[in-house]
Amino acid sequence: MNRGAVIGFPIGHSLSPQIFSFLSQSEHRTEFKYEAIEVKADQLSEFIKVAKSKFIGLNVTIPHKEKILEEIENQSPEVMALGAANCLHFKADSTGRILIFGHNTDVIGFTQSVVENKVNVGGKISLILGGGGAARAVAYSLASLHCDEIIFLSKTLSKIENIISEFKNLFPKVKFTIFDDENIQKKDLALVVNSTPLGMEGYPGNPESFFNPILSGAFSKGAVIFDLIYRPEETWLINSAKKQGLRTIGGLDMLIYQAFGTWEIWFEKLQNKASLRDSLGIELRRSLGKKNRVFITGFMGVGKSTIAKIVAENLSWTLIDVDKAIEQKTGRKISAIFAEDGENFFRTLESEVVKDACTRDCVIVALGGGALTVSENLKAIGQKGNLIYLSASSETLVKRLGNSSASRPILRHDKTITFSEHVGNLMDVRQAQYKKADFEIDTDKLDDEGVAREVLNLIRTEMK
Ligand code: NAP
Repeated sequence: MNRGAVIGFPIGHSLSPQIFSFLSQSEHRTEFKYEAIEVKADQLSEFIKVAKSKFIGLNVTIPHKEKILEEIENQSPEVMALGAANCLHFKADSTGRILIFGHNTDVIGFTQSVVENKVNVGGKISLILGGGGAARAVAYSLASLHCDEIIFLSKTLSKIENIISEFKNLFPKVKFTIFDDENIQKKDLALVVNSTPLGMEGYPGNPESFFNPILSGAFSKGAVIFDLIYRPEETWLINSAKKQGLRTIGGLDMLIYQAFGTWEIWFEKLQNKASLRDSLGIELRRSLGKKNRVFITGFMGVGKSTIAKIVAENLSWTLIDVDKAIEQKTGRKISAIFAEDGENFFRTLESEVVKDACTRDCVIVALGGGALTVSENLKAIGQKGNLIYLSASSETLVKRLGNSSASRPILRHDKTITFSEHVGNLMDVRQAQYKKADFEIDTDKLDDEGVAREVLNLIRTEMK
């Protein structure tokens, strides 16, 4: 069988197709194709019935990891213990009937990351932050690696109490305890694992107030800090731990190793996993980084600032409106900078803001209409982000701009031509640069919400 897929809803953000395309190349199985398929809850059962004769297996993600157990005929010990599966293997028995085997590669991925990063947890104490599905997988893994004590800290006490009562029976030699301000001071942690979404792009809440007491406690001074989050890769926790000189592991390792786990279940053992992880890591980091930075270009009046603001709010990303950032930085209006210091000076300031945006994660940047006339801006954006061109016909732009030449210096023109001729001339000059964008959205027939929806769609499904 030469097909695999990841199913879930939503599924556009999944990195699995990229990971498996890498593996099919590196393992010389180029005939193997892997795709992301959107499957909603009410379609799950029917989908599996058809898929089991077409695919070698499936990866299963949110929201089906628990519900999928109803379809599985043979559960691995991890699946039985966790009540969740994320990898199916379709295998024929001796009569040719296809059986569904269920695995949990979160456990495999986490265990491999700990082992490959040479973190010794055997006989030691670890702290797990969070009490959801990932926390369970992490606890299972740490207990299997013979941790002496596993401490839990989360928002809802009852959830960690439930994990503890279930896991006590499974791993009678391991101590499972709840974080306690006083007792923790006497402990010496080997590993702290964040399995909450706190710090993930778009997730609300203040990581500082939750993680700071952990990082500043003497009990975690020698601990390795493992954050399961990989979007962004440099989370608040990872950054702060690094600043304190602590060793850190990011979520990308676990993501990669759990995909390796799937590959080994479906096919054969992978040789040289550490070097595969390194090359795949470089590829994923590049696309994660690029995906995390979106630049919006287009002629003035096309709605770049408004659209960027709506999109930033929707994703909880940082908004950088380049013109506003320059005004803030200099304390002067753009028209004053043009009038007093000229366009070249303005373009230098603009390039500084663009360069800075290229170093940030999870940003949406509204560029000024002329930003791409500077080739170094175009180059930096091409390397570090995705560029979207919001296009509009000159008739639409003339209508939207009115005659706003007083506030927009570039719109001032001499009396020998009309305003719309001037706009047309400027567009002729700039369009060649705009057309170099990765994506174009024609805004003529869309309102602001409609354009923002198109941008969000591109970010979620198309961007690499
Ligand atoms: P989940 O089932 O929703 O559990 C999240 C847990 O975090 C819950 O116990 C929740 O507590 C707790 N939490 C949420 N916000 C919190 C806050 N502000 N302060 C303290 N605790 C908070 O999610 P999950 O499936 O376990 O996934 C958790 C994270 O791990 C996600 O970011 C996911 O992307 C990541 N993950 C990464 C990998 C990888 O391969 N790297 C694999 C799996 C998961 P309540 O229940 O009380 O709200």
